[in-house]
Amino acid sequence: MSIENDVKALRTGGQHGYLRIATEEAFAPPEMIRMYRRMIRNGEIKDPGFLSLWGFYAFSKSPRAKFIFDSLQDLGEKRLADMDERGIDKQIIALTSPGTQILKRDQAVALAELANDQLAEACRKYPDRFAGMAACAPQDGKAAAKEIERGVSKLGFNSVIINSHTNGHYLDEPQFWPILEAAEALDVPIYIHPNTPPKAMIKPMLDAGLDGAIYGFGVETSLHALRLITRGVLDRFPKLQIIIGHMGEALPFWQYRIDYMHAATVRSKRYDVMLPLQRKPSEYLRENYYMTNSGVAWEPAIKFTQATVGVDRVVYAMDYPYQCDPEEVVALDAMKMSAATKKKFFQTNAEKLFKLKKKK
Ligand code: CA
Repeated sequence: MSIENDVKALRTGGQHGYLRIATEEAFAPPEMIRMYRRMIRNGEIKDPGFLSLWGFYAFSKSPRAKFIFDSLQDLGEKRLADMDERGIDKQIIALTSPGTQILKRDQAVALAELANDQLAEACRKYPDRFAGMAACAPQDGKAAAKEIERGVSKLGFNSVIINSHTNGHYLDEPQFWPILEAAEALDVPIYIHPNTPPKAMIKPMLDAGLDGAIYGFGVETSLHALRLITRGVLDRFPKLQIIIGHMGEALPFWQYRIDYMHAATVRSKRYDVMLPLQRKPSEYLRENYYMTNSGVAWEPAIKFTQATVGVDRVVYAMDYPYQCDPEEVVALDAMKMSAATKKKFFQTNAEKLFKLKKKK
């Protein structure tokens, strides 16, 4: 059968043996897009990564940008139709990058509340199709912890979205620990989604047009995930669970060398900032991280991660609306793996991780 026929045959409902739960799917409140556009026009935001990304998506008339612009702002019929067309049973939806994290403290706190209220309303309206992640404003760790608590206890979210660095700062820094503490105490995972690299990192990437999802996102987010390990934060919050997308932002492939060089560096006392850990870096990846295949519809990378990180920790994601080709769903359906493993990948790992079954 041709791919074209296979795409036409994509269905929701699980008759092929599993539901498809897509776990890194984005939305944007229209108010946020309007604010971004205004701030770019006024020159209020100078961050080069933000201007590269949103300077394009908020203004470009290209068909790709237009589709993304419209889809991000829809939490209703358009999104549901796009899901049906791609065979997606359920989306786990999060505030798109950089969300609150480019804003000043008060704006960021207000946007987190507004985004959470909008998303919670859509999830209440379509409980079988949507679940949400709680947004917060990391600029104020204590306020963020409070908003996460509200998101989980009042709004029914079972995970937290952090769009990677906040003005060049990373979650291993103590001002963010209230967020980690809240997530661990509430038993909800934190999804660290890419952001454009901060100013100190981005120039040579921008010079080559490589700052976005093609490369810069992955480098910046894998650095974030690795800092949480090597700075000892996961020894302080040992039960914390982190989700990273894009096939673990390539970290599975680095495991051997990171373990070797971490041990060698600690032994030689080269850096004051690199202290001994309770486990090998790769053990944290296997015990504190989940990895989604957002944007990576590639069987060898998925299987390598299943083999080295674990079949219970590799989770399906699409990356709507940035990358959502039905052909990718067909290719993933056709992966040569056992029916039990494929069901974990598409459905049951996500159900457990996001506590989907406990929800009414
Ligand atoms: Ca994404």
